[in-house]
Amino acid sequence: MIRIAKGAPPTNLAERARVGHEGHIADYVADPGDYRSGAKAFKPDSAIYGARAVKTRLRASHHGKCAYCEEHLPPRIAHGHVEHYRPVAFSQDDVGSPEIRPGYYWLAYDWDNFLWSCHYCNSTKKGNVFPLRNKRMRVRRHDGDVTAETPMLIKPDAEDPSEHIGWYREVPKGLTPRGRVTIKVLGLDLPAHETRLQHYRNLESAYERVCDLNGSPDAKARRHALAFRAFLMDAEHPSKPFSAMSAAFNRDNPLPPLPEED
Ligand SMILES: [Zn+2]
Repeated sequence: MIRIAKGAPPTNLAERARVGHEGHIADYVADPGDYRSGAKAFKPDSAIYGARAVKTRLRASHHGKCAYCEEHLPPRIAHGHVEHYRPVAFSQDDVGSPEIRPGYYWLAYDWDNFLWSCHYCNSTKKGNVFPLRNKRMRVRRHDGDVTAETPMLIKPDAEDPSEHIGWYREVPKGLTPRGRVTIKVLGLDLPAHETRLQHYRNLESAYERVCDLNGSPDAKARRHALAFRAFLMDAEHPSKPFSAMSAAFNRDNPLPPLPEED
């Protein structure tokens, strides 16, 4: 996970979001009991939150990667999801915990509540789980103040994930309680992330090649070493998949000094 600069929302979102939120709030005010019991549930309108302009802007600002696992989501191959950081229909304190209804229905179309995510992180793992440091502070009405909540999930467009999540080889490690909860809820350390493991192996083998070829008397071998060096440095770029892991790899495996050219 890396810090994401999401930028401004698409210009036409504000008005559609306002109308959508007003509708949700009116529905809730008319029938709060039904929304609390689950007899009625909010189902956000994908024509608003999933509009092409929203998706395009999210995909670009996330470098085409999942906000949580940094898997690359190429259009037409892996469908990116517009993920609601605060869930809309209901919330859960943990996986399998009781449903707390309603969810954050007044944030269903809020740009600040959107992230770009893969199916695994958004649907298979996170779902409606949204743990708070203090459960009793959970806001369940549109007139509440969510800034009084302390969410346990790292919000990568609002804070630097590297302060909470470090790496041991290809496995993320929680540095703080929030980092640990984020890893657990999203399953970031599970073997399902096999593409990341493969990427780690590529980093390892590139590093070995640099070390082997760096001081070679053969000019061609030294050029290969430079290419592997460039691959390792480039892997840290935010546009590259698993760039947080790659940056940690480079910190843990300093490159040998460039050989002096004669
Ligand atoms: Zn993901």
